[in-house]
Amino acid sequence: MLLDCTKCDGRCCKTPINNFNVVLLPQEMKNLKKFSKKLKTRYGGVYILNKKEDGSCIFLDNMHRCTIYKDRPFECKVFPLVIDYERTFVLSKLCPKIKNITKKEICNSIKEWKNKQLSTNWIKAYSTIPIN
Ligand code: SF4
Ligand code: SF4
Repeated sequence: MLLDCTKCDGRCCKTPINNFNVVLLPQEMKNLKKFSKKLKTRYGGVYILNKKEDGSCIFLDNMHRCTIYKDRPFECKVFPLVIDYERTFVLSKLCPKIKNITKKEICNSIKEWKNKQLSTNWIKAYSTIPIN
């Protein structure tokens, strides 16, 4: 986890429908596919976690807590570090605490992304999904 998210009301977990989406890794599909929907991109489909009508994640409870915290998707774990349209690692401006992240933490998260050994096509598709 990059940040201490206490005192944040879970901003990244409740964004408008066309804003930030949690994209599932291929290896997360087995457990989470039924809670997601497929988005087509010009590089192929990716699955994003479903949201409630108000834009919040289906796993967010009324107290702004994640009900699957231990098993939350990888993207939730490394947020706010995301991959943008140019396939570059960036910090999402959606998060109010990005100034608190150290270079070392960013490097560790980049390493975590790289350890996933994701296919180029998946990364291309992922990076077309809005991030903030
Ligand atoms: S799975 Fe949990 S951490 Fe991820 S967006 Fe949903 S509520 Fe937030
Ligand atoms: S917006 Fe940032 S500080 Fe708030 S819950 Fe998400 S990652 Fe944590």
